[in-house]
Amino acid sequence: MSIFTKIINREIPSTIIYEDEKIIVIKDIKPLAKTHLLIIPKKEIPTINDLEEVDRELLSEMFFVAKKVAKDLKIDEWYQLHFNVWEKWWQEVMHIHMHLLSNS
Ligand code: AMP
Repeated sequence: MSIFTKIINREIPSTIIYEDEKIIVIKDIKPLAKTHLLIIPKKEIPTINDLEEVDRELLSEMFFVAKKVAKDLKIDEWYQLHFNVWEKWWQEVMHIHMHLLSNS
């Protein structure tokens, strides 16, 4: 079970910004910008390389949630979205998540 699934299950604490039946958005514990959020599907998919056809809609939903959260937080003028894929270094948590970073 990934650390993000433990957060989703409320087994470990986190600052939750948004949640619906498929997605949760939390504050990153080690922010790299003034706002650093993680948009996480509740389905535990290890990496982008593990995506399947059935996940198309879920991935699309993640972008719409990013847009909504950025608008709600009034940081929608300037922000970055990114995924890391590389388990040896860049990807620390093996449960896909989109980073949303903004300094506004
Ligand atoms: P990545 O390198 O793309 O896998 O990013 C994983 C991110 O998860 C990092 O930016 C971490 O700071 C963040 N992170 C790890 N554990 C937690 C946690 N318990 N709560 C919030 N963010 C976390």
